[in-house]
Amino acid sequence: MHYQPPGLLERVSRKVQRAHARARPYAFLDIPPDMRRVSFCFDDFPKGAREGAEILERHNAHGTFYVCFGVLETESDSGPLASAQDVRDMAARGHEIGCHTFDHMLCCSVSARQAEESCIRNREEAATHGLTLKHFAYPEGELNIRTKRVIADSYDTARTVLKGVNQGRTDAHYLKAAPLYETDYSDIRALIVRTGKEGGWLILCTHDIAETPSQYGTPAAIFEELVRLCMDHDIAIAPVGDVVAEIKQKAALHKGAEP
Ligand SMILES: [Zn+2]
Repeated sequence: MHYQPPGLLERVSRKVQRAHARARPYAFLDIPPDMRRVSFCFDDFPKGAREGAEILERHNAHGTFYVCFGVLETESDSGPLASAQDVRDMAARGHEIGCHTFDHMLCCSVSARQAEESCIRNREEAATHGLTLKHFAYPEGELNIRTKRVIADSYDTARTVLKGVNQGRTDAHYLKAAPLYETDYSDIRALIVRTGKEGGWLILCTHDIAETPSQYGTPAAIFEELVRLCMDHDIAIAPVGDVVAEIKQKAALHKGAEP
C-alpha cells in the first residue's frame, strides 16, 4: 500500500468533491464550549504506531487506530503494517479500533456501493476478532458526496485530514484532524494552546512513531512533548469514541434541563 501523488487535474477534482461533500452534513455533534479534548489517531496502524500507544499509556491515555483489515501485514509508506493479533492486543490494552475501509479505498473516486462493500467487509473482518468499528477515517482524507452518505449511515463519526479545532456545532462526518507529519509542529503547538484557551475538540493524526520516523510519521520525542503540552493546558486525552459519548451525554443533559 503506497501513496500515489495525484496529478494537477486529479488534485483539483478531489478538492471540488471535498467541498461538495462538506456542504452536505448528515449529523451534527454539539461540542460544549467548556469541553477541552484531544484525540491522538494512528492511521493504517503500521507496527511503528505501537511506540505512540506506549507514550500515551505512560500518561494514562489511549488513542484511536484506524485499520484496514485487508492490507494488514503488508508494506506501507510508514513501514510494515500490524498483524490482526497486534490489532487485538491494542484493543485489549484499551485503545480504540476504527475503520479505514478494507483495502484503503480512496472514497473520492469510487461509487457509494464500492465504498459500502469495502466498509462492510472491514466491519465483518473486525467482528471475527470481536471488534465493533463505529468511527471512520477517510483514506488520505478523500471523499465525495455519495460515499459520505454511505459512511454517515454506517459510522457515528468520520474524520478528514484537515487542520483545525472542532468547536460548537460540528459535522460528525467531516471532523477536522491535523496531521502530525509534514509540519514543523509550531502550528500543532498553536492548535493545542488554542484548544486550551477557547475549548473544543482537537484531533491529531499520524502513522508511525519512532526516533527517526517515516515521512508520514512523528518523531517520538515530539509526540511525547505534544502529549505533555495537552496536559499542561488541562486538555484531557481520549479516544474518538469516548469524546463522542461525552458530547452526546452532555447534549442529552442539556436537553433534559430545558423547560
Ligand atoms: Zn491511511
